[in-house]
Amino acid sequence: MNTWPELPAAQQPPWPDRAELDRALATLRTLPPLVFAGECDLLTERLAQASRGEAFVLTGGDCAETFEANTADSIRARLKTVLQMSVVLTYAASMPVVKMGRLAGQYFKPRSSGVEVRDGVELTSYLGDAVNSLTFDVDARRPDPQRLVQAYHASGSALNLVRAFTQGGYADLRQVHAWNQDFVRESVAGERYDALAREIDRALEFMKACGANPSEFERVEFYAAHEALSMDYERALTRIDSRTGKPYDVSGHFLWIGERTRQLDGAHIHFASTIHNPVGVKVGPSASPDEIVEIAERLNPERIPGRLSLITRMGASKVRDALPGIVQKVDASGIPVVWVCDPMHGNTREAASGHKTRVFDDVIAEVEGYFDVHRSLGTYPGGIHIELTGDDVTECIGGTGGVAEADLHERYETACDPRLNRQQSLELSFLVADMLIRR
Ligand code: PEP
Ligand code: MN
Repeated sequence: MNTWPELPAAQQPPWPDRAELDRALATLRTLPPLVFAGECDLLTERLAQASRGEAFVLTGGDCAETFEANTADSIRARLKTVLQMSVVLTYAASMPVVKMGRLAGQYFKPRSSGVEVRDGVELTSYLGDAVNSLTFDVDARRPDPQRLVQAYHASGSALNLVRAFTQGGYADLRQVHAWNQDFVRESVAGERYDALAREIDRALEFMKACGANPSEFERVEFYAAHEALSMDYERALTRIDSRTGKPYDVSGHFLWIGERTRQLDGAHIHFASTIHNPVGVKVGPSASPDEIVEIAERLNPERIPGRLSLITRMGASKVRDALPGIVQKVDASGIPVVWVCDPMHGNTREAASGHKTRVFDDVIAEVEGYFDVHRSLGTYPGGIHIELTGDDVTECIGGTGGVAEADLHERYETACDPRLNRQQSLELSFLVADMLIRR
């Protein structure tokens, strides 16, 4: 896949040296795939179930991964959080959960401004660790194509660890208690989780006593997702699958196109239309129903269930007004989609301290609005997409653990948008499970 049409591509990094970029891309083109076509096809099947209301998608992870946080502890904590949330949803709502991480590739960020000014000094904005460094320094902010290669290797090592954790016994359902050990004492959500884990243990013991000890409980399927933002990076990692002869982007299982780059005639939508991975598109409150139907037509002309997810991110105050028109029109088109709710990106605000934050109640209110809209229209709420971390950060306000606005400075560690901490994430999963049960 070396020839691509010349199309306008929004939000591309301003690489200062073309030759340097070409060398990095040549290297990327020689490197082995991070994911396999067969895995991507299996994910499309899983997502097809979600499009029919037979499964629920849970995507969680950083806004922006960093090389610095690509450690065993940090990856394990994020994975554990998603697994715990998934157990809550699976058990409480009796629904299979399709588990995905914003992980092993989420290294590129679109920005509202290309430059950042501090104390009169203007530098290139932070564009993700695959492009430049968060440090506010002229050299650190210079886009460096070698970082693309570094992002590939970081993704490979993260995915290797995820595969080991999820296939090697750590994610065994019999470990459901162990994931909570460092957590239960100090939190309401942790205590509630512990009670649920005890019920699961009893059910497992009962099954075992009856002679059933299924091997399905030993492993979990976990998929890697990121925003396909840099066309250079994603194209360099797009390969023809030898089995089917079709192109797949082997940088991750699931790729989504962001709210800022989903122009109908732009490079991103065209790119997504050429690959056979399952893909997503973010849909904000200013999107028109006609525009989204055209995007859906472009990305899913063969009407394959599971191929396309529409990830709506309207904001708590707009979801009930902005979502119905879009859902109705897409539904009437007959193009199958998975409706996913991202309750984070429409609910970002600035705290008095200047921290970018989100309020837990706004996040919940958007998910509630999303469920109500789909219920009233007879479409399926197919999943949630959350920015979270496994650590005890103080980036979002609220939850029963009570991060107060005045606490934000204590552990504000994100490289980009504010994430729910582990306790807030677990609490959200209990609330979403309640919404799922109310079907
Ligand atoms: C994101 O998911 O981090 C993001 C930038 O989202 P959106 O494109 O919806 O603004
Ligand atoms: Mn974000």
